Amino acid sequence: MFVFVGDGEEYCEVAVCGGSCGGLCGEVGVAASQRLAESVRGMCGGSCGGVGRYFVSRYTPLMPRPNPCPNPCNVLLIGGGGREHALAWKMKQSPRLGKLWLTDPANAGFAQLGTPCPTRWDPKDSFRLQRWCDQQNIHLVVVGPEVPLAEGAADALTSETRHVFGPTQAAAQIESDKAFAKQLMRQAAIPTAETRVFDHVDAARHYLETHEEPCVIKAVGLAAGKGVIVCNTQAEALDAMERIMLQREFGDAGSQLLVEEKLTGQELSVLALVDGRQIWILDPAQDHKQAGEGDTGPNTGGMGAYCPTPLMDRSTLEVIEREVFVPAVDALRREGIEYRGVLYAGLMLTPGGPKVLEFNCRFGDPECQPLMARLKGDLVEILWATATGTLTNVELDFDNRIACCVVMCSEGYPGSYEKGKPITGIEKAQAMSDGGGEVIVFHAGTTLNQEGELVTNGGRVLGVTALAKDLPSARDLANAACEKIHFDGAFYRHDIGDRVLVNS
Ligand code: ATP
Repeated sequence: MFVFVGDGEEYCEVAVCGGSCGGLCGEVGVAASQRLAESVRGMCGGSCGGVGRYFVSRYTPLMPRPNPCPNPCNVLLIGGGGREHALAWKMKQSPRLGKLWLTDPANAGFAQLGTPCPTRWDPKDSFRLQRWCDQQNIHLVVVGPEVPLAEGAADALTSETRHVFGPTQAAAQIESDKAFAKQLMRQAAIPTAETRVFDHVDAARHYLETHEEPCVIKAVGLAAGKGVIVCNTQAEALDAMERIMLQREFGDAGSQLLVEEKLTGQELSVLALVDGRQIWILDPAQDHKQAGEGDTGPNTGGMGAYCPTPLMDRSTLEVIEREVFVPAVDALRREGIEYRGVLYAGLMLTPGGPKVLEFNCRFGDPECQPLMARLKGDLVEILWATATGTLTNVELDFDNRIACCVVMCSEGYPGSYEKGKPITGIEKAQAMSDGGGEVIVFHAGTTLNQEGELVTNGGRVLGVTALAKDLPSARDLANAACEKIHFDGAFYRHDIGDRVLVNS
């Protein structure tokens, strides 16, 4: 599924193309402008197979420039968690992959897939990594986490011969600045919660003292998933406001405060690859944020996810594409910002229809793990095509099986936890793969100790991902695989997917 996005106000929907578009697109195009007509004929030509609508910019060149993926393609991967292990695992299957370099090789799972890069991303010294990339002939930089993107890694590392998978600093504001994202949503009429933004404590306090409804208090900046506090009472809201704005629990991320209407409904994640103009919606996933079974306990980075979720069928996904992704990418273009990378919409299916909770500028973690487990095709080519504005050149398809990822955590997470606990049983877990099912164990917080033993090195330790014919089988297989793995204090949720399984 893909669309062409227009340039500011100046796009038009040329045709709902059923594969016989040559003449029709030409006619509509002529009516708009001669130049548009030529572009449309060149782009469409009846070869689209009826897969989508075309939104065509009047004044920008429409044909993607040929920019083939180098073979071999040398890749630098920034980041070192479960998401990056999943990306490295999938890239490793590409015949095009040249040398894979890793900036964060402590993670024992993916350390064996690549070569440690001696230089890390440092926004204050980006020149060093740039020079190193030049010396090593890096063709593609893949940025996993949001922080380097928000710090400008894509801007700094792009060159004439090198492309970056991940948006520029300006585009990454869609995640790093919640006030920016809200303003964008408002301008583009994207359905989202009602929100007020405050710069000053007194104004925020006054507002909260005069509003008693349950609300969600959000720090404006990045706070590793902790800067969002769902409040049921006025007292909780005032307390959250003080923690964020006065005590500055999340540092500068609390320089502004958002007070949002509290929405209710099932949550899900829709991710899309965006190459500047085209948008490819990926299969929707559902994450489980809370630490305890039955969605209880504190919020975490994510305790498990499965993909695809039956919560969103094709037609609703098309509505999301039309009402969320196209207007968001288009509104950015109006600001002069071209978005390239993954755009992630966290959505809530409210009684009033789907609403956006947040945008992220990168793959979600753990959602990336079931997505990569199911992805068919050459990931290096796909990432290259996204980074170079040539998504139409590549094939994208998913395994028909459902993937369920169960995250095994260290005792105490998301609070404080000990590291260095020996881990055993991963081989036994992976050996549970059989004809229909498959188990892949992605490492998130692991490392090798001085004795060369595999030990825990983080709160989220492993993403045990199973593929099977349906969600109950995938979840059962993932849970059974977790049973084979041991480290002191390990815990995980056994109920990933229950929100839809129990309801159905
Ligand atoms: P951070 O900014 O600290 O990195 P985040 O970007 O992960 O956090 P969000 O995804 O915006 O934060 O919110 C975290 C969770 O809070 C959501 O997954 C959802 O469960 C809940 N939430 C956020 N906004 C709302 C809302 N308006 N109504 C109800 N729940 C919400």
